[in-house]
Amino acid sequence: MTISPVSILSARFDVEDAHLLAVAREQGAYATLDTLFDMTPDDVTEEVKNSGLRGRGGAGFPAGIKWSFLPKDTGKPVYLTVNADESEPATFKDRYIIVRDPHLLIEGIIICCYAIGCHDAYIYIRGEYTSQYEILRSAVEEAYAAGYLGESVAGHDFSLQLTIHRGAGAYICGEETALLESIEGKKGQPRSKPPFPAVVGLYGCPTIINNVQTIASLPYILANGAAAYRAYGTEKSPGTHLFGISGHVERPGMYELPLGLPLLGVIDEVAGGVWRGRGLKAVIPGGSSTPVLTAEEAATVTLDYESMAAHKTMFGSGGIVVLDETVDMVRVVENLIQFYHHESCGQCTPCREGLGWMEKLVRKLLAGEGSHADIDLLLELCDNIEMKTVCVLSAACTMPVRSYLVKFRHEFEACVTEHSAAAQPAQNLEAAP
Ligand code: SF4
Repeated sequence: MTISPVSILSARFDVEDAHLLAVAREQGAYATLDTLFDMTPDDVTEEVKNSGLRGRGGAGFPAGIKWSFLPKDTGKPVYLTVNADESEPATFKDRYIIVRDPHLLIEGIIICCYAIGCHDAYIYIRGEYTSQYEILRSAVEEAYAAGYLGESVAGHDFSLQLTIHRGAGAYICGEETALLESIEGKKGQPRSKPPFPAVVGLYGCPTIINNVQTIASLPYILANGAAAYRAYGTEKSPGTHLFGISGHVERPGMYELPLGLPLLGVIDEVAGGVWRGRGLKAVIPGGSSTPVLTAEEAATVTLDYESMAAHKTMFGSGGIVVLDETVDMVRVVENLIQFYHHESCGQCTPCREGLGWMEKLVRKLLAGEGSHADIDLLLELCDNIEMKTVCVLSAACTMPVRSYLVKFRHEFEACVTEHSAAAQPAQNLEAAP
């Protein structure tokens, strides 16, 4: 099987200056709008449902079904919030879309807003993305000037205001309710759910929150139909995805691929294989919060939601990290816990304190001062923290950490035994006659 990238989302990525409206329009941007306004909003939602498009932020919930959770006739405005916070380590697809083809995103926003009856949409973009923000801001200004946004979208009886809201740089603001709090000007801390944002969202009103890539997939679906989208991928995981492949490969980068391809085939054929002729130790399949796969597991998994779940991991954000045989897994876990502990918003004790305890235990092991009981204690902490908090940030740490502890336990044990062995010769020498 020969694996090569496809171009649905990425069709204009390599076109020079495609972030400019004139160039994007020459290449087909906003061409779907006439079709859109010939359809009813329910027809658009139905087409998206039929396409099987799943949320590309990590959870993989079907987008059209999410839209249909909006309550009807509440008398309140409906909001769309596009999640461009993209903070998951190893994930860099959304900023690619924003920089290379911001008008694809804006066109997708218009489609979604028409379908859900939204006239006020927001893009929540991570604070650190300064250059991306500038490109997006200028694209939005161009879209307003050209009449694609504003009182009468593309000359049709539909108004849409689009606001870009910059975050202040917190991983947790990628969590949908923390994101809403942040837009409202409050501290970016997740809300307890239910109620879910579709019912009580931004400013207490029905709100849809979709990821950048999800929204950017809409123009293709509208232009070509659900069946054309389903021609890619698998029955339950249709379509394409932007996979960011990083780590120890010869050709790291962003690749658009149909879902359902063999992970190892993608690493070898698309990303050039494990670098420097080394062996593969493990693969992080979908961003740092997804449980790690051993080399043996990576050889049997395919890049879709179902196969990942069958291997007790997650498809996640499509951020694939390849780890070669030289990687120290205890250091990987130290890095992971440090990140999530730092990003904890602090409102739940198990997350705020527990991740700190885990960080100290791993450092203790790395310093050669740990015991076998500390490894068991780490596992026990994972069990006691996970799913006992307001949001899933704590699980985003404990789930992968547990996978490293279970699958690479010998490396954690080695921190204890090698230290004991290092201490042993000195004792033997002392005991020698
Ligand atoms: Fe905040 Fe952590 Fe609780 Fe999430 S789990 S709400 S990040 S303290």
